[in-house]
Amino acid sequence: MKYVSCKHLEHGIAFFSRNIECCCISSHEGGGQIECVHDYFGEPIDWDNFFAQRRKIRDLHKSGEIYSKCKGCYYLEERDWDDEDYFCEMLIGHWSHCNCNCIYCYTDEDKYYFNTREFYHIGPVIQDMLDKNLIRNGGEITFGGGEPTILEEFEDLLNAFISHGINNIRIHSSGIKFSPAIYQGLSEGKVTTIISIDSSTPETYKRIKNINTFSKVRENIEKYAKANGPLYVKYVLMPGFNDTLEEIQGWLEHCQAAGVKRVAFDIEDHWFKANRNHIPQHVYDLFDYVVKNHSYYGLNEYQLYERAMNLREDRKKCENNG
Ligand code: SF4
Ligand code: SF4
Repeated sequence: MKYVSCKHLEHGIAFFSRNIECCCISSHEGGGQIECVHDYFGEPIDWDNFFAQRRKIRDLHKSGEIYSKCKGCYYLEERDWDDEDYFCEMLIGHWSHCNCNCIYCYTDEDKYYFNTREFYHIGPVIQDMLDKNLIRNGGEITFGGGEPTILEEFEDLLNAFISHGINNIRIHSSGIKFSPAIYQGLSEGKVTTIISIDSSTPETYKRIKNINTFSKVRENIEKYAKANGPLYVKYVLMPGFNDTLEEIQGWLEHCQAAGVKRVAFDIEDHWFKANRNHIPQHVYDLFDYVVKNHSYYGLNEYQLYERAMNLREDRKKCENNG
């Protein structure tokens, strides 16, 4: 049936530290944060009840109304939805522990709190979902908490997804700990992995990450690159820390030497918001450099995150108006 809905409302699930929601989208008029299970800490789930609750919102949309928390959300679209009960969009974000200390991370606000916050084992509930065939391909499974590789159950969890045939899993990792399951997933093309190194020298790395693991991360990037899969090595530009051409060239040279084929480039969020109306010329130039020269470094693909795309769009508008 054709009606206005969204992929998360139809087939999404997001595990957070104390509850389960439909999605992680919240910056629109309705505010999102649609809670499906309240006060959750890894307990078994009654799926019939879960889907019955979800159906109430689906039925509202079928009747032509929009659920209050979804109002104004850019994920809403009118199309033929399949009306089945399963998940293909999943966020695993129930923990915040990390083995890195990026100064731009939300956890930097209170590292001790985020590194000691209690979290639950998610493996049993995921296995239950796989056993009941409730997880299907067609969307994306994302790990979005702290560092996934340090979760005790991570290897088993990822192997369970891979052996079930799930083919679109996205993992952000600090790259400090090597994961054989990530390597396997990369080599099968099922796991996209993003490692943000943000530097080309141990000194710059330490200033941004507050830890001396530069060589370890480079070594692991080299290992993962051998899997020939969708590995992205990322650079978050932080003006005042890593915004020199030499640093960026060194980063690209290392990617090339390691056999990396994809990079991602972004600009640090807080700095971007505070400086959006007066971005220095050299920042635009660094973005142009990566875009124009990526193939020179043997890269097949560069990915610009939304902020970086906005930055390039802003400049185009200025050039056109000026
Ligand atoms: S419409 Fe927006 S808020 Fe509602 S479920 Fe979809 S993504 Fe979440
Ligand atoms: S690696 Fe990710 S989760 Fe860990 S501190 Fe850096 S940004 Fe935060």
